[in-house]
Amino acid sequence: MSNTTVEQVQAGVEAWIGANWDPALSVREWWARLAASGYSAPMLPVEVGGLGYSRDLLAPVNSALTKAGCVGPPLGMGISLVSPTIAVHGTETQKQTLIREILLGEAAWCQLFSEPNSGSDLAGMQCRAELDGDEYVITGQKVWTTGGQWADRGMLLARTNFDLPKHQGITFFALDMHQPGVEVRPLREMTGRAMFNEVFITEARVHRDMVIGGLNNGWAVANTTLTFERASIGSGGGGNFGVAIPGTVANNLDRAVGDFVAERSSQAAGSVGAGTVKQYIGIARERGLSNDPTVRQDLAELHILTEVNRLNMLRTRAAQNLTGVEGNLAKMLMTHTLRRARDVGSALLGAGAMLWGPDAPTGGAVQEMTVYSPAPSIYGGTDQVQRNIVGERGLGLPKEPGDFRATPFKDLPKNG
Ligand SMILES: Cc1cc2nc3c(=O)[nH]c(=O)nc-3n(C[C@H](O)[C@H](O)[C@H](O)COP(=O)(O)OP(=O)(O)OC[C@H]3O[C@@H](n4cnc5c(N)ncnc54)[C@H](O)[C@@H]3O)c2cc1C
Repeated sequence: MSNTTVEQVQAGVEAWIGANWDPALSVREWWARLAASGYSAPMLPVEVGGLGYSRDLLAPVNSALTKAGCVGPPLGMGISLVSPTIAVHGTETQKQTLIREILLGEAAWCQLFSEPNSGSDLAGMQCRAELDGDEYVITGQKVWTTGGQWADRGMLLARTNFDLPKHQGITFFALDMHQPGVEVRPLREMTGRAMFNEVFITEARVHRDMVIGGLNNGWAVANTTLTFERASIGSGGGGNFGVAIPGTVANNLDRAVGDFVAERSSQAAGSVGAGTVKQYIGIARERGLSNDPTVRQDLAELHILTEVNRLNMLRTRAAQNLTGVEGNLAKMLMTHTLRRARDVGSALLGAGAMLWGPDAPTGGAVQEMTVYSPAPSIYGGTDQVQRNIVGERGLGLPKEPGDFRATPFKDLPKNG
């Protein structure tokens, strides 16, 4: 696919939409068509339902869906994180069953990684999994679980060996969320939404066939997931199309897909690109601010940041001089750009930036961006953690003091 151009992709998707999009279809049928075309997850390998596209070819697919006023592929972590992780680490059966149900929107997923005492230090997690016959029995607590309230399955990290060093005794499971012993409790955030949850797991069960990537190999599998997460946050390739939540809890499959064209993902608030800069230039002109030197400086800076992000993506695609930490760099650049876009937008709109709703300036987009802006700097690994990774893995700087890589988990010093 490396010779495919953005223009070719855009033209191909537009022609396909012309022949297939119909708001009267059921969500089930629309997602089945998207899955059959490969446009649900074009970056997946062809063998598991994708088109083998590089990340920069995702943007033209998303932009064609947006322009045509379509509903996008099943929203959430199933498509963006689970399917590429299983494509790398899963068994043949897992690829054919779990990825398939994600592409068809039959199952929604959540990410059961963070715990109350292990977010940045993810490998310090304590949730335990003990083998009992052919099943593992899971007990522990997870937190900040985005979309846990809709999830049919969870990407669960649990400790399967307390005698191994902390990075080595972890296993990655596909947990059935609909069973006794899995309790999901919502947490409300300052956006007004309850996007994430606490999840209490008490002797829940998962069959050994649902181990992804091998016993005690969960750290490597989780790093694959996090690499996809950071790259997708940094890429800005998300479309602004209509969204529908997949899975049995949201139960949207038999509704008309046209019902969802006006629904938007909260993550759209985190998407800053050339369109944002253009919109801000328009506001500056309308308000007579386009000759103000400070405003001009801010707009030029935002333009440069979005351009650097675009060029970084092209550089990654050209696969030259790669450092291995491109996803981390892209994520940091995106979070910085988002904060700058928030500040510049607020300065342009003044008190109007606090308003939300259809009558607010920009339809409330700057307000949404403001309350959402801290999130991408935290999820998928905080900005500080990204800097540590870039320092250690990209620049070869020494590791942080206190290296416990060889100490069995059970012997590690615990927080008082
Ligand atoms: C919107 C949102 C959605 C999320 N969704 C999910 C989800 O679906 N599933 C999931 O499992 N988790 C999710 N998370 C959790 C997220 O991954 C964690 O919040 C994140 O990893 C940070 O962990 P923590 O909150 O425990 O902060 P801590 O790790 O306690 O960090 C606190 C502060 O200390 C800094 N810090 C910590 N360690 C270091 C270090 N070594 N060097 C320098 N600074 C350091 C951090 O940068 C941070 O500023 C989500 C978070 C947010 C905000």
